[in-house]
Amino acid sequence: MKNDGTMVNAYVPGKGNLSAEDQALVARRVRALGPAYRLFYETPVHLVRGEGVWLYDAEGNAYLDTYNNVASVGHCHPAVVAATARQAAVFASHTRYLHDTVLDYAERLLGHFPPELSHVMFTCTGSEANDLAFRIARAHTGGTGFIVTENAYHGVTYAIAAMSPSLGEGVPLGEHVRTIPAPDPLRMTGDLGAAFAAEVQAAIDDMLRHGIKPAGLIVDTIFSSDGVYEGPKGFLAPAVAAIRAAGGVFIADEVQPGFGRCGETMWGFQRHGVLPDMVSLGKPMGNGYPVAGLVMQPGVIAAFGAKARYFNTFGGNAVAAATAMAVLEVIESEGLQENARVVGDYFAQGLRDLGKRHDCLGPLRAAGLFLGQDIIAGDALTPDAARTSRIVNGLREARVLISATGPRSNVLKIRPPLVFSKANVDHFLQAFDQVLARV
Ligand code: PMP
Repeated sequence: MKNDGTMVNAYVPGKGNLSAEDQALVARRVRALGPAYRLFYETPVHLVRGEGVWLYDAEGNAYLDTYNNVASVGHCHPAVVAATARQAAVFASHTRYLHDTVLDYAERLLGHFPPELSHVMFTCTGSEANDLAFRIARAHTGGTGFIVTENAYHGVTYAIAAMSPSLGEGVPLGEHVRTIPAPDPLRMTGDLGAAFAAEVQAAIDDMLRHGIKPAGLIVDTIFSSDGVYEGPKGFLAPAVAAIRAAGGVFIADEVQPGFGRCGETMWGFQRHGVLPDMVSLGKPMGNGYPVAGLVMQPGVIAAFGAKARYFNTFGGNAVAAATAMAVLEVIESEGLQENARVVGDYFAQGLRDLGKRHDCLGPLRAAGLFLGQDIIAGDALTPDAARTSRIVNGLREARVLISATGPRSNVLKIRPPLVFSKANVDHFLQAFDQVLARV
């Protein structure tokens, strides 16, 4: 079975080293939550508190969070928590009443986009944002066909799970969905942009042969679950041109790379110099509060808006908007995009230096504080999934949290909160060095 990009290191009952108390918690989870949930790590972590880049277990042990992109301005950031509490105490209702908060936030957020992307609609999750994009794209193009990368993850709704191949064979893809290889510079020959666009074109041709009209191409602009493919910058542009020429739209899924993580740019699509028709947002937008959204060019929503009405009970409610506003203000006032660039470069350099001493460290891909480190056996094209799992679990024992991703389960996915410091990087590298020596 394939992996969903984040569960490479799922807990398997009977493995690991759980205390009697935590075994009881696992049993309670299964009883109350049923069989579909998964836990991270051979020995799951039982957390009770978070602050900045640190998470704490019940015994007060600190874990360095090098993985959670949701708490991007730091766990429980006081300014964000205060904004949530302040708004919740004053007015906490939905977008069917006139109220400033959602408009203040919408305008502030849109100020971070090219002027053509001038509408935003609010949802609670990234899945809902992509689901809305799916419906809008169908209404706008009159088509139904979607192209995704072969280990993509875009969310949990029926329509979007059918476009998320990383969920594995147990979750069938739609007949209108075509998968294309990830833009992997090691495995695609020639110019990456041309090669990736040729895959998009082949998918379009195949749809047309089956009587399916293309509606869109959707990609996570850093290809997180495919193994983190950040460059070379600009390689996406020919693929976007190809889907547009076929009458489809381009949807940039910014749920993972967005909100400054890539350092140089606020959004992943900007690395490629392309202008999406729609941009889906989520995870870091509320630093843990469920707020997400879809930004779009007005022309794309015209057909949908004329026929359908949109209301999302909790999406864009006043508390969500106030919380998201506080997150954006912290990103701006604490210079977190710049921090992601500077600390991300430092992180990448540290990993490259370690790579000189550890043969299992293969190619590294990095944009700001989004890093993908291949673990290999011998040459760059030979993945070592077993060692990857030992590294992730070894780091967890050293109280440093990361995970692994990619179709071959051999890419360390390193994606810390944006407040990560150079000292935090040094802490990570020291633990990583020791774990590498052991595994
Ligand atoms: N798109 C991408 C790229 C994601 O990584 C995720 C979540 N892992 C989603 C969409 C779905 O977001 P949510 O879990 O908020 O529904």
